[in-house]
Amino acid sequence: MNLHEYQAKELLARYGIPVPPGKVAYTADEAKQIATEYGNTVVIKAQVHTGGRGKAGGVKLAKTPEEAREKASQILGLNIKGFVTRKVLVAKAVDIAKEYYAGLILDRVTQRVVLMLSKEGGVDIEEVAATKPYAIIKHPIDPHKGLRPFEARELIKKAGMEGNLNKLASVLVQLYNAYVGIDASIAEINPLVITPAGDVVAADAKIVLDDNALYRHPDLSTLREVDAEHPLEVEASNYGFSYVKLDGWIGVIGNGAGLVMYTLDLVNRVGGKAANFLDIGGGAKADVVYNALKVVLKDPDVKGVFINIFGGITRADEVAKGVIRAMDEGILTKPVAMRVAGTAEEEAKALLKGRPIYMYPTSIEAAKAIVSMTGGGASAHSTGGAQ
Ligand code: GDP
Ligand code: MG
Repeated sequence: MNLHEYQAKELLARYGIPVPPGKVAYTADEAKQIATEYGNTVVIKAQVHTGGRGKAGGVKLAKTPEEAREKASQILGLNIKGFVTRKVLVAKAVDIAKEYYAGLILDRVTQRVVLMLSKEGGVDIEEVAATKPYAIIKHPIDPHKGLRPFEARELIKKAGMEGNLNKLASVLVQLYNAYVGIDASIAEINPLVITPAGDVVAADAKIVLDDNALYRHPDLSTLREVDAEHPLEVEASNYGFSYVKLDGWIGVIGNGAGLVMYTLDLVNRVGGKAANFLDIGGGAKADVVYNALKVVLKDPDVKGVFINIFGGITRADEVAKGVIRAMDEGILTKPVAMRVAGTAEEEAKALLKGRPIYMYPTSIEAAKAIVSMTGGGASAHSTGGAQ
């Protein structure tokens, strides 16, 4: 789960990391009011779930409240990489002497949280990584010991960062504590600013929380921003489905994440493109299948549905009942290709007999069928590889 900058900064502040005071505004007038309150130069920043806002015109300084109103009205509504700006952070501007980068990510190779530091902060860190990889130092952190202040100081020196060593080290240690404390998967400060007075301030922050650990943080789950996600993803998560909106036209429903991913690959291989990923999980009853169809078919991109079920604890006849209900209620009017195998397969076939549902013995045949029924080309992306 992605957090907005203002939410990330609030969390970092809880861990004692200095962040500039700021408030969120939804209108230009609110931005002006906040700027008046601060009485100083403010920075107006688009709150959208993407980086590179500065380059896209989503970060602007304003010296007066009236200027804050103007800049906010330019930024509100701005489309940054597909995300429309609905609110801005109005923060006291920081004086910048130096801009550094500090970030933590989970590295699957070393199986450690890795601290990354660079004195080339402010700009896109991916760009630094691509053009000057030597300018980023990486350090895997021992989970038993955590990030110790002396280690942090060594790393700061190694990265060539200048400034008060203790203040910088304390920010890094707290960043690590925050990362572990809130179960983040990414925590970044870019820029980590050194002010002319020598203070260390997090002028921008990015945090991604680990969704699988959110149950441990009920207070953080409320930070989820429903309007920032795809509405169908929100609806699906209310039903408890793992659903991801994709950019194709074939609705995909399966049981088990592995089978669903395999199904997406198959659809792609035979020239189609999936409109979504939807896993109904194990042991689904008819109503679950019915709800899954409801979600998938609400997507206007969907021209047909591929249901791929391996009957283990999920009974194929329950799946069939869900499909039949969706048909009888007029929800399911588009072509369906279905492959069911395993538990209660015969019962499912019997239930679906006479219905305009195409049943296929193998996944690949069902994939080819749904692609041709929905107008895709079987040869377009075919690799001819092993299946
Ligand atoms: P991003 O482009 O989405 O990463 O947004 P940032 O918050 O990192 O802002 C981009 C750039 O705007 C920073 O690297 C700074 O150069 C500048 N900036 C952001 N906040 C301030 C501030 O408070 N004061 C000053 N002087 N510049 C700022
Ligand atoms: Mg930034």
